Amino acid sequence: MSNVGEKVAAVQERVRQAALRAGRDPDRVTLIAVTKTVPPERVQEAVACGVRHLGENRVQEARDKRPLVAGDAVWHLIGHLQTNKARQAVQLFDWVHSLDRAELAEELHGRAVTAERRLPVLVQVNVAGEASKSGVAPEGLIDLVRLATRLDGLQVKGLMTIAPLAADPEEVRPVFRRLSQLAAEVDSLGLDGVRMEHLSMGMSHDFEVAIEEGATMVRIGTALFGERTAAYARG
Ligand SMILES: *Cc1c(COP(=O)(O)O)cnc(C)c1O
Repeated sequence: MSNVGEKVAAVQERVRQAALRAGRDPDRVTLIAVTKTVPPERVQEAVACGVRHLGENRVQEARDKRPLVAGDAVWHLIGHLQTNKARQAVQLFDWVHSLDRAELAEELHGRAVTAERRLPVLVQVNVAGEASKSGVAPEGLIDLVRLATRLDGLQVKGLMTIAPLAADPEEVRPVFRRLSQLAAEVDSLGLDGVRMEHLSMGMSHDFEVAIEEGATMVRIGTALFGERTAAYARG
């Protein structure tokens, strides 16, 4: 028996409460259902329950799954992207959250121009400096944003981060706060056409804290679909 509908409703309510607690408009927080390892039938169920945004961390999995999910869902690539998969990523995804290096920016730009698209991208920042995670270091962020801004195949929409796993989500509040500050720093440069409209931060165990710190997109898997197999546990 399926309970995706109940889980979706419960998570949406927690999103709403967290936004209200922070004095924010709940409509400004988008729930992205992270569907990696989730079979297409269950993804379809979530879509039927009103989920519009889906997150996948691998190009190949999305390529297999997207044709099997009906409806007008918006697909977000949230995982590390190899440069040689940029062409497929541009074909398959509406948004890319994992722009983390100049080479990838150039490649995505070229592929997007060929596809006659302006691809919305978020720059992934490795705020906590974890060796196991991708993302540009905070010191390299402004250079990467400047470069991406000059590439008209890309629309730089904001920043993304993955916080370290912590027993208590309060421990990672400074990570979310730092991402928000970095976005404000970028905005203060007044670069042509760049506004940090989005902060993609917060996962199942820490999304409420992320919302309190300004998240506009939360990426939630486990709290909607249950535990994944260990191999896929964190992107
Ligand atoms: C898997 C994944 C998520 C969702 O994680 P949960 O803890 O299951 O909510 C969010 N963001 C990224 C980048 C991921 O790889």
